[in-house]
Amino acid sequence: MTRPKSKQSPPPPSNSSPEGYCQSCGRLLPRENKSDPTARKYCSSTCRGHGKSLHLRGIRSELVKAYHKSLNDRPTGQVILCSEVEKIVFDPSQNTTPTSTLDEIGDNLKEGGDSRSKLSPTEQREESRRAARRLVAFGFPSQGIPEEQREVEAIQNGKIVETSFAKGEWGIRWK
Ligand SMILES: [Zn+2]
Repeated sequence: MTRPKSKQSPPPPSNSSPEGYCQSCGRLLPRENKSDPTARKYCSSTCRGHGKSLHLRGIRSELVKAYHKSLNDRPTGQVILCSEVEKIVFDPSQNTTPTSTLDEIGDNLKEGGDSRSKLSPTEQREESRRAARRLVAFGFPSQGIPEEQREVEAIQNGKIVETSFAKGEWGIRWK
């Protein structure tokens, strides 16, 4: 599948099997890799590094839990946006914590080894989207919630889309 031009809406989901997706960012693996006899798990060395990163492991687990809880808390069929889960995980104090104590909390997070504070805002946004893509491609059981058998699909502007090419606001809902 070629990458659509930026103004086009994303294409419908690829019919690729889970093996066709990167285990780190959840995007379709490049076509040329599919004939590679060696099993490929990642689309790039960056994703391979992310996949093995201990400091991302905890963050990714929190993101998956936040998606699961949000999906369960809302009526079936309602879309959970990647940006909503990003706020839940990376900015849990918003609207409830006075500004004067934010610095203290930041220090506590660092001392406690909470790696959320190490990610740039861009990486926070990307991690939230990577988690959503992995959930669509692989489902909850492989992402740390083994008892959840229901599948999710990606939605942008009311249409089911391929997450690899979704840009702007998109989210997931139960299939
Ligand atoms: Zn990747």
